[in-house]
Amino acid sequence: MATVHRIHNFSAGPAVLPVPVLDEIQRDLLSLPGVGMSILEISHRSAAFERILAEAEESIRTLAGISSDYKVLFLQGGASLQFLMVPMNLLTAGATADYIDCGSWAEKAIKEAKKVGAVNVAASTKAENYSRLPKQEELKLTPGAAYVHMTSNNTIEGTAYKTLPSVGDVPLVSDTSSNMFSRPIDVSKHALIYAGAQKNMGPAGVTVVIVRQDMLQRSQKSLGTMLNYAVHAENGSMYNTPPAFAVYALGLVMKWLIGQGGLSAMATANERKAGKLYGEIDRTGFYRGTADKNDRSLMNVTFRLATEELEKQFIKESTAAGLDGLKGHRSVGGMRASIYNAFPEEGVDALVAFMKEFERVRG
Ligand code: PMP
Repeated sequence: MATVHRIHNFSAGPAVLPVPVLDEIQRDLLSLPGVGMSILEISHRSAAFERILAEAEESIRTLAGISSDYKVLFLQGGASLQFLMVPMNLLTAGATADYIDCGSWAEKAIKEAKKVGAVNVAASTKAENYSRLPKQEELKLTPGAAYVHMTSNNTIEGTAYKTLPSVGDVPLVSDTSSNMFSRPIDVSKHALIYAGAQKNMGPAGVTVVIVRQDMLQRSQKSLGTMLNYAVHAENGSMYNTPPAFAVYALGLVMKWLIGQGGLSAMATANERKAGKLYGEIDRTGFYRGTADKNDRSLMNVTFRLATEELEKQFIKESTAAGLDGLKGHRSVGGMRASIYNAFPEEGVDALVAFMKEFERVRG
C-alpha cells in the first residue's frame, strides 16, 4: 500500500487510478521483473513489450468477451482524433453518417465528421443543454447510413445510455470514453467502439479502438497511413512506436478489473456509489441534479446549487476538505463529481458527508 497521503480525486480525466496499480508501477519502475530495464526504456520491438501489449489486449478481450471478429487497437491522438478517423475510414463516398447529438463531445465529433462527408444529425438535445438523451422515437435515421454515431456517456453533462439505440442493420459506432468498462458492454452490437484511456482504463496517451473486421475494408489506401485503421490492424498497433508506458499501465488496470470480479461486479459497485450521491442530491432540494433522472450517468454526477456564489463557496470548501476536482466543466458550471471505477466508495461517503454539512450550515 502507498504510504503517502492521497486526497479524493473527483477529476473527470485524467482521473484516479487503482492504488494497487500505482504501487506495482512504482515497484517495477526501475526494472521490470526479469527484464532489468524499465518500461520507459525498453524497445517496443522487444519480447518484453510484445508480451505487455498482447496481455493488455487479452485482458480487454476477456473483460468484454470480444470475439475474433473484432480487432483491438491501441492508438494515439485521444478520442478527439477518433472524431476524425471514424468518418475518414467509415464514411464511404456518397454515403451519409448519422450522428446523435447528445452532448458537447458528440457535437465535437459531428464538427469533425462534417469536414469529411455528409452528416445527418439524427436528433439533438442541445436546445435543452444536453440535459437528457434523445429518445428512440426522436431519431431520424437515414436508411442505409454508413454508420450511426453515439456517445455512451456524456462526460460534461452527466448523462448516459442505459440501453443502446436501435439502429437496425446500420453499423453502430460508440464513443465510450467516459464509461468504458464501468459495466458490461455488448461489443457484438457495435461496429466500432473507441475510448481514450484516461478515465476508466489508465493514464492519458493511449486510445482503445475495438473495430469489427469487416469495417476495415472501408479504409482506403489513399488515407494517410497513420489515419488508416486497416494499417494499424495489420500491424498489431505497432506500425509506429506505441505509447508503451500507457499501454503497460492500462494492462495493469485491466488485470485489476478482472481481479475485482469483472464488469458485472464493477457495475454493481458503480450503481451503489452513484446511488449514494444521487440520493443526497435528491434528499431535500438544496442541491439540484442537472441531468434528467432517467438518463443519469453513473460516472459523472452533475449538480448545482441555488446561486453561483454558493457554488463557488462549495468548491472552495470542498477543495480545502480534500475533495478535489468537483468544479463542473467550464461550459456548464456547477459541480461535477466523477466517480470512475477506481474511485473509492469512501470518497463518495466523504462527499456525501460534506454535502450534508454544507447544507446544514448554508441551507
Ligand atoms: N469523448 C468523450 C465522451 C470525452 O469525455 C472526451 C474527453 N473528456 C473526449 C471524447 C476527448 O478525449 P481526448 O481528450 O482523449 O481527445
